[in-house]
Amino acid sequence: MKATVLSVGNELLSGLTTNTNLVDIARELFALGIETRQSVSVPDDKQAIQDAIKHVDDDLLVVTGGLGPTHDDITKESICDYYRLELSLHHETKTRIENYFKRLGREMRDTNEKQAYFPKDAIVLTNNHGTAPGVIFSANGTTVVLLPGPPSEMRPMLERVKTYLKERMQTSVYSAGYLVVGIGESELEADMAEYYPKHPDVNIAPYAGLSQIRVVFVAHDARALDKALDDFKRRFRAYIVGPHDATIEQRLVDTLIAQGKVISFAESCTGGMMASTLVSVPDASQVLNESYVLYSNESKIKHLGINRIIMERFGAVSEQCVYELAYHLAHRTDADITLSVSGIAGPSGGTAAKPVGTVYYGIHHEGKTKTYHRVFSGDRNMIRTKATVTGMALLLKALMHEDDHS
Ligand code: ATP
Ligand code: MG
Repeated sequence: MKATVLSVGNELLSGLTTNTNLVDIARELFALGIETRQSVSVPDDKQAIQDAIKHVDDDLLVVTGGLGPTHDDITKESICDYYRLELSLHHETKTRIENYFKRLGREMRDTNEKQAYFPKDAIVLTNNHGTAPGVIFSANGTTVVLLPGPPSEMRPMLERVKTYLKERMQTSVYSAGYLVVGIGESELEADMAEYYPKHPDVNIAPYAGLSQIRVVFVAHDARALDKALDDFKRRFRAYIVGPHDATIEQRLVDTLIAQGKVISFAESCTGGMMASTLVSVPDASQVLNESYVLYSNESKIKHLGINRIIMERFGAVSEQCVYELAYHLAHRTDADITLSVSGIAGPSGGTAAKPVGTVYYGIHHEGKTKTYHRVFSGDRNMIRTKATVTGMALLLKALMHEDDHS
């Protein structure tokens, strides 16, 4: 099956909004074994929408945006007009929209009623986060899916679309993958060059983020998929921190809970980002009691009793400093595992020996303190984010006793 994704909205073409819907849709279709052959963005304009679908000859057309109640929301009307499909009132949807407004204590406006009109035999996708329902229908041999623009409304509906597509596809599709941290995208690609030809029946897509890559594998044959996964795991074990749909912070919290351990951070360059990221996971309270942001040199001395001589001789961004921080933190907080992080986020402050992006970590766990050194590229906040993600990966590896002693 092949697909076109059509994104409708003036805001997408004026640079106001990033087209995240395209990314979400294409990624989910890929995992179903559906190839997105083209993506088109057009303004909220009937002619532009109809011109775009003229060129669609794929089995699937997924459209987002312009399903709202206002006069500029014309996607459904324009597309149904193009396919010569008549719209009729879907009573259940009308009641649903009325109830939505009742719940909010507001009067339903007449303009909202147009959202309850659909082509005959269409499958209406209810919207639990807004008024604009989505819809699936067939036209000229193409399966057409219309979804609302706001990502918070679009994403939950995409799940329904996936279920629908899975049921309709003749062949079964298997997908799985890994979340990988600590290896660069180009480095991974280079190492994958000899790996890809060994698994010709498996589609592999790496989705790179900051310091983390989600590698998704899709195949029609479950055995081929397993072989590719095993082979990947053997080669890249050191960098794998979980399945592709996991987040590193969730993995860390889950692992700490499973081991009955409490964590504490002493953060300098990340300025609390590590603690904050961990706290974004529900149940973080089971694994975190306290955490420090120790930004100045004095604060490191004052709160964790770092030896002034160490600070003066080696500086705050040093192996010696993070070692002391992690060690003293463990004794100060009684946490089962502690992490300290100190680095140069830039843009100034770098030297030849310690360029911008230099980050040191200390981890104290099971009576031992280890230090790690990394150099990240990017601007200030990219470096801070990469330092956070990498720190979490180091913690996970330490908890799993897979740390590389570097
Ligand atoms: P609504 O009922 O909110 O009007 P709608 O289906 O008409 O729903 P739009 O008006 O097209 O949606 O878009 C509403 C908002 O959703 C936009 O302002 C934009 O912030 C966001 N949005 C729209 N399309 C996209 C997209 N492709 N990617 C990310 N965000 C989008
Ligand atoms: Mg709108």
